[in-house]
Amino acid sequence: MSGTSIDPAVLAQAGREYGTPCYVYDEAAILQRCREVLGMPNSFGLHARFAMKANSNRALLQLVAGTGMGIDASSLNEARRAVLAGIAPGRIMLTTQEVPEGNDRRDLEELMLRGMRYNVCSLRQLKLVGPFAAARGLGLSFRIHPGVGSGESATRNTGDDYSCFGIHLTNVEEALRLAAALGVRFTALHSHIGSGGDPEKWRENIDRELGFVEKWFPDATTVSFGGGFKVARMPNEKSADIAALGDYAKGRIEDFARRTGRKLTIEVEPGTFIMANAGYLVTSVIDLKGTGPNGFEFIVLDGGMEVNTRPLLYGSRHPFYVVARDGTLLSSEFALDQATGQLDQRIVVGRCCESGDSQTLDAGGHITTRVMAHPGTGDFVVVGGAGAYCSSMSPFNYNSHVQSPELLFRTDGTLLAIRRRQTLEQVVQNETGL
Ligand SMILES: *Cc1c(COP(=O)(O)O)cnc(C)c1O
Repeated sequence: MSGTSIDPAVLAQAGREYGTPCYVYDEAAILQRCREVLGMPNSFGLHARFAMKANSNRALLQLVAGTGMGIDASSLNEARRAVLAGIAPGRIMLTTQEVPEGNDRRDLEELMLRGMRYNVCSLRQLKLVGPFAAARGLGLSFRIHPGVGSGESATRNTGDDYSCFGIHLTNVEEALRLAAALGVRFTALHSHIGSGGDPEKWRENIDRELGFVEKWFPDATTVSFGGGFKVARMPNEKSADIAALGDYAKGRIEDFARRTGRKLTIEVEPGTFIMANAGYLVTSVIDLKGTGPNGFEFIVLDGGMEVNTRPLLYGSRHPFYVVARDGTLLSSEFALDQATGQLDQRIVVGRCCESGDSQTLDAGGHITTRVMAHPGTGDFVVVGGAGAYCSSMSPFNYNSHVQSPELLFRTDGTLLAIRRRQTLEQVVQNETGL
């Protein structure tokens, strides 16, 4: 039992052939997750959109879209990027903090005419986009800030009073008056309360949101419950049961239909859930150091905060696999009792000049130890749970390290390069010098 969905020998092969650090994604795992989401129980239809900020690699967007999922874009550039990947604007919803002006405004309007749905997230956005949408008869979506959120950490809670995503409850009536004056129709209501939070909060959000639809949104035919399904990256964590959440939503939607005669389509927009556990970061051990008899043993990797910022940003924990150069698994945090290498408490750091460049940090930013085998230099340390918010979120040119390659492990057993390693020339190409 390695705990990896891809054979460690293949991960080692990826590291040897494409160099490290590199990301390897498991096509079968991604397809399986898409099927699970698309199969969520529903009564009057379900749309699932992949939140592409979790991982916006073109091949992965195409893979996910090929299963029938749409795209949730968090910026106009993400929407443009999805279109560049061949995804029809009609399958995209844009939910953004940006306010479209100038060229962006023109491109936004063109995408909306081609079917992209715009999710209004502020009064200012409504003033800017509303007249255009009303003139063209395009329905808009309304992102409501429900005043209550839930996230795995404070920085991933998007629904409490310390975050400003969407139009706050206390401003809804003002927004609706403005919309009525502009002739805007809201055909969808949306809320996303945060990432990786409590499933109970997710259920409560469904009830709250349906209450808002009933009270304020007579034209809404769609209700989006957002993303944020919790994924277990570590052995002791538990993933959200999306079939159970779907069952709950289905029941509430049916009650709503009995009460109001309105048959609402459900939408969900997971990012993490689709990608997190389908991705691995393969790094090489470049050095081994210590801090004395009372100190610690440090494993220095050729990839740290610049390829996975989540531990530094959130204190997130990712599982480690120590894999020998030839592909033999030396230890897996999912099966430490079966480790062949010598186990001990160790600290994993990267190569950036930054004491926080460690992937073994707690939520307070303190370095902690983790149990794993003793690798030799040249062996691999594979970081699991690295499919979402790793490649897409990382400050990859920090310390002038180049952006890492990404590989897809296909269902036919081959490795396909889906992003080449960035070159140093590309890092500096837009700098002009004196
Ligand atoms: C980030 C985001 C998501 C996805 O969140 P996950 O926790 O990755 O599932 C969904 N909807 C919106 C609006 C988002 O900003």
